[in-house]
Amino acid sequence: MYFVANWKMFGNFKSLNQLDKVMTFAKKFKKNKTKLIYCPPATLINAVSKKLKFTTIDVGAQNCHQGLNYGANTGQINSYMLKDAGAKYIILGHSENRQLGEDNNLINLKIRSSIKSGLKIIFCIGETLSQKRKKNTKKILSKQIIQGLKNVSNKRNIIIAYEPVWAIGSGLIPKETEIFDIVSFIKNKVKGSKVLYGGSVNTNNINLLKKIDNVDGFLIGGASQNSNNFIDIIKKTFI
Ligand code: PEP
Repeated sequence: MYFVANWKMFGNFKSLNQLDKVMTFAKKFKKNKTKLIYCPPATLINAVSKKLKFTTIDVGAQNCHQGLNYGANTGQINSYMLKDAGAKYIILGHSENRQLGEDNNLINLKIRSSIKSGLKIIFCIGETLSQKRKKNTKKILSKQIIQGLKNVSNKRNIIIAYEPVWAIGSGLIPKETEIFDIVSFIKNKVKGSKVLYGGSVNTNNINLLKKIDNVDGFLIGGASQNSNNFIDIIKKTFI
């Protein structure tokens, strides 16, 4: 099971203390059963990776520029630089970035450059509420998958995160049967891929979500910023 903590645009050097409890907790479980990944903002990647160096917890980035060469791109960071700073994973295609204008083609370029840099990809896909209401969910997900993974022949390092846009940060989650159905659909489209669920995962609804037996883990935003909540979610998953 994967537990990916997406800190979004939160956190500063003081927040690194949040990791202490999780580091102690992580010693208890076997690495081959549970994978914890922290995705802090880019400013903290290097510090977090140093802090987690002798642990089983990995570090991920939250986005990158699509280019691989150094260049005159003020304010941008490419995947190679993130790898160099200590990231092993990268979240791409997050709906918060899609809403800022990232389309499937741009996400595809980012995925391909990140693979070249040696990062593992956490590729986010999901439908909006109006797409869901129009019963277009599978059509939208198909398009995101086909265009996002165009010319990606080796999908071994791609983990897909199904994140309904309307569920992110809203406290709402789909029915368990809906998640099961969508995750099966995704696994059918991308053979062999791990699929995570993301969207308002918290210490209460994890008791329902953990029962969906084709889900390979969770991408957790808000609830991951507090280590007690994050640990509680992991503990409850295995009870
Ligand atoms: C996310 O950041 O991808 C996410 C799912 O956020 P939240 O858990 O806060 O809904």
